[in-house]
Amino acid sequence: MQRIGVFVCHCGSNIAATVDVNKVVEVIKAEPGVVHAEDYQYMCSEAGQEKIAGAIKEHGLTGIVVCSCSPRMHEGTFRKCAEKAGINPYMVEIANIREQCSWIHKDIEEATKKAVILARAAVAKVNLNTPLKPGESRVTKRALVIGGGIAGIQTALDIADAGYEVDIVEKTPSIGGRMSQLDKTFPTLDCSACILTPKMVDASAHEKINIYTYSEVEKVSGFVGDFTVDIRKKARYVDMTKCTGCGVCQEKCPSKKGLSEFNRGLNKRSAIYTPFAQAIPNVPVIDTDQCIKMKTGKCGLCEKVCQAGAIDYTQKDEIISEKYGAIVVATGFDIIKLDQYDEYAYSQSKDVITSLELERIMNAAGPTKGHLERLSDGKSPKNIVFIQCVGSRCSDNRGKSYCSKICCMYTAKHAMLIRDKYPDVNVTVFYIDVRTPGKNFDEFYRRAVEEYGVNYIKGQVGKVAPQPDGQLMVHGVDLIDNKQIKMEADMVVLAAAIEPESSVRKLATMLTASIDTNNFLTEAHPKLRPVESPTAGVFLSGVSQGPKDIPETVAQAGAAAIKVVGLLAKDKLLTNPCTAHSDELLCNGCSTCANVCPYGAISYEDKQVNDHGIRETRRVAVVNTALCQGCGACTVACPSGAMDLQGFSNRQIIAEVDAICR
Ligand code: FAD
Ligand code: SF4
Ligand code: SF4
Repeated sequence: MQRIGVFVCHCGSNIAATVDVNKVVEVIKAEPGVVHAEDYQYMCSEAGQEKIAGAIKEHGLTGIVVCSCSPRMHEGTFRKCAEKAGINPYMVEIANIREQCSWIHKDIEEATKKAVILARAAVAKVNLNTPLKPGESRVTKRALVIGGGIAGIQTALDIADAGYEVDIVEKTPSIGGRMSQLDKTFPTLDCSACILTPKMVDASAHEKINIYTYSEVEKVSGFVGDFTVDIRKKARYVDMTKCTGCGVCQEKCPSKKGLSEFNRGLNKRSAIYTPFAQAIPNVPVIDTDQCIKMKTGKCGLCEKVCQAGAIDYTQKDEIISEKYGAIVVATGFDIIKLDQYDEYAYSQSKDVITSLELERIMNAAGPTKGHLERLSDGKSPKNIVFIQCVGSRCSDNRGKSYCSKICCMYTAKHAMLIRDKYPDVNVTVFYIDVRTPGKNFDEFYRRAVEEYGVNYIKGQVGKVAPQPDGQLMVHGVDLIDNKQIKMEADMVVLAAAIEPESSVRKLATMLTASIDTNNFLTEAHPKLRPVESPTAGVFLSGVSQGPKDIPETVAQAGAAAIKVVGLLAKDKLLTNPCTAHSDELLCNGCSTCANVCPYGAISYEDKQVNDHGIRETRRVAVVNTALCQGCGACTVACPSGAMDLQGFSNRQIIAEVDAICR
């Protein structure tokens, strides 16, 4: 039997306001093995930890139960405290009486009863705990950044500047992300390309950065410090080592029917193309759906005109396998599809556009060479209406419940830029609320109203109706004056909600990283570990984690980089000793456990076993403890009870259940 100390934390009033902590202390003292119990206001504080260390020495404790917040918050803190005081850190258990009790219940009596039950279960477990020793694993001193937008570029630059090798994997033919599609950027209104392209060049020229464009992550295995990643380099049909980027192939290519992805489908591009003039690398790709040679075997003009002999129609996708110590996800976002929002006539009129399309129209290198004109007839607009929150902050299931965070600011930017360049154009913005928290952001919005005369109407638009003469009739409501509004417009611009890039779900599964209900990647802790995923060694950067603008993205990219550098700076990592192991006498080699293990940690070996004096060779499961993450899936699945988990053994779990049901 252990000598157990129980320490009940008030967490200020977080726990103590709903749980009678004195009662928990009194009741738990009667549990088998408990020789000491006390409560304190903040157990995690220095004074609280001193109480634990003092009690370990005074009462000769061999096991500890801390009744406090989630183990995700302070398990490490209390384990370190116990270790310093001479106890094996794995003899510490946490009873989560905050998140699982005080925060979710109101009735003090009921919450106290539940807190006692949770504490009792933890005591029952500690009674069966055994000291464990972590193993060691090596750290591959190289990082992978998935996504080559501003988040990925900045993260890679910061890691590389600290002296570590970084690979960027970008799925499109060029790095740059959405920022490369923007014209000018709030809050300073500087040209997006002018601040982004130097960073793109720095990344491509950096001796520690290697960029795989037109590539995607295919498979991830391994664990923190030692991931193995398969990367699919899609065939460009252009040899990157030979291409000089002269662009002759694109000029001569007779197939010019493909829609430019970069210009959001507003104009056409050739079958062989680079997405934009400053693309990095400046090497085209062939769109096989549009290429005449690929479809009919005829043409081949690009091969004929390419002086460098770079065209290679036989190129195949290539799979590269690389090792990494850390992985950063920076896959960014897209804007939502608008097929659920037919009332705004996006699919009916060319003059109803999204804000991202407006960015391309306003851009000197865009489809209209920077001229603000109606896409239907090329005429200059006189009245433009902006509609904010299209698909953001929705209470129905058509759109997103969250605020996309950037639309208020970029709409103010668009309104200002238009009024600045075309003072005769009337600009009206329909908004629900104007949300502009951020340095100099509210001042920016007020300039749009006060200096640039933008007409802001608090209200919603119910319908945009295309008229026979090509005009658009906007039907809305002014909530301040409480009146219906009908307004003629030449163009309507929709601030469509943003959502995580569609591939993130698949990627999260590969990385065993979690995503929230909106598909944004979940951080390990929303306040204290905002750039780490709950999976060790996987970090988050940019909009893949949640909506943000460029300044916030760059700040987060730097934070993710420093976490990666902190990890890569270590030569060895301690591994979790709570790993699975199989009992060779019980195992029947059925493969069930290997099929459920998400980390590929289980294999089978023919082993000599001695079953009650009978020696025979059996096919039995063997766990690679370096790969095992202690998730416990195998122990639950094993039909013969042969699989067990150190630190969470079947006996321990059953003892906990018994203690709860007592
Ligand atoms: P992204 O820019 O989306 O980059 C992600 C990259 O990852 C992309 O290159 C993508 O191709 C790649 N990728 C995705 N999935 C994968 C995968 N599975 N494998 C490999 N690569 C992948 N912010 C401002 O501060 N000022 C502004 O003026 C401003 N104006 C804006 C106007 C509009 C209309 C919009 C929509 C946004 C605006 N923003 C502005 C916000 C800004 O665009 C974002 O903050 C910024 O682009 C976020 O960068 P990111 O790298 O996180 O994501
Ligand atoms: Fe590259 Fe050849 Fe095309 Fe020039 S013609 S951009 S060298 S592939
Ligand atoms: Fe264009 Fe394909 Fe012809 Fe090359 S072979 S010029 S990519 S259509």
